Amino acid sequence: MATLEIKNVHAEVAEEDGETILRGVDLEVNSNEIHALMGPNGSGKSTLAKIIAGHPAYRVTDGEILLHLDDEDVEDIDEDLDDDDLTWNLLELEPNERAALGIFLGFQYPAEIEGVTMTSFLRQALNAKAEEREELFEDEDEEAADEEDEGYDTSPMEGPADDGAVSVAEFQQILSEKMELLDMDEKFMHRYLNAGFSGGEKKQNEVLQAALLEPCVAVLDEIDSGLDIDRLQDVSKGINALRDEQGTGVLQITHYQRILDYVEPDHVHVMLDGKIAKSGGAELAEKLEDKGYDWVREDVYETA
Ligand code: ADP
Ligand code: MG
Ligand code: MG
Repeated sequence: MATLEIKNVHAEVAEEDGETILRGVDLEVNSNEIHALMGPNGSGKSTLAKIIAGHPAYRVTDGEILLHLDDEDVEDIDEDLDDDDLTWNLLELEPNERAALGIFLGFQYPAEIEGVTMTSFLRQALNAKAEEREELFEDEDEEAADEEDEGYDTSPMEGPADDGAVSVAEFQQILSEKMELLDMDEKFMHRYLNAGFSGGEKKQNEVLQAALLEPCVAVLDEIDSGLDIDRLQDVSKGINALRDEQGTGVLQITHYQRILDYVEPDHVHVMLDGKIAKSGGAELAEKLEDKGYDWVREDVYETA
């Protein structure tokens, strides 16, 4: 089981005199759990998501973000690992390294890349993750030896390091399994990446990416926005499958309670002014639907 531990995170916009946005966020997400992060517009939800992923637009001024892994999470690694290989300080790592450790951030507006089929993009993403992962866990002695080796390597025949990479055929197999898991239409995968996809299809594609990369924790930012009811149900089914079928922890950011009719969160948090103002179970989301966010604000500032 993996745990993403966010401790007292303060953050500001990464400019001179950048505005402070997060003011002490504490949050723990385990694999196998769905957390809904709710809150009014401008409260800092997307900023938190981007900071977890390592977005350069923000500067963390205090606090920690740790990822704790256990032996099961590193079964694919060949090295001898000790305990200190299992806890990672994400704030010291690049975005692609965080992704390789098992953090997935879905984008609010996926980019359209013309001329790249979704299959080839997804296969590259999967292979890039595996390669980065190997490098991260590589023994330091070996790393030094590799660097020495590089000086002597004059072989012009050596192509890109493709050892262990997932082949096209293997990938088709994995992709079919994941699409079946998510109940997705197979014709989807021959399409060009996001080009010509409807808003709802893009969101489904995001869930598919999360299924393929099998992250410990997936952060999904407003994956429910602009979806009609059918598509909302499809996407929700996918999110439930991420947790139930592959043990992914989900941090689901949403402004509206609606998606929580289909995705049952284990925990609900409300962000207000850059802090988690309230946490509870699914019943908290229902209360928010009835009473809005003002009620939380009054509650928090009265007792403060
Ligand atoms: P939410 O996702 O909860 O709606 P955001 O995290 O997007 O909130 O934004 C929180 C606040 O921080 C908003 O007032 C927003 O304008 C501000 N903010 C976020 N990112 C930046 C940025 N890069 N530069 C300046 N202000 C920002
Ligand atoms: Mg947002
Ligand atoms: Mg080691």
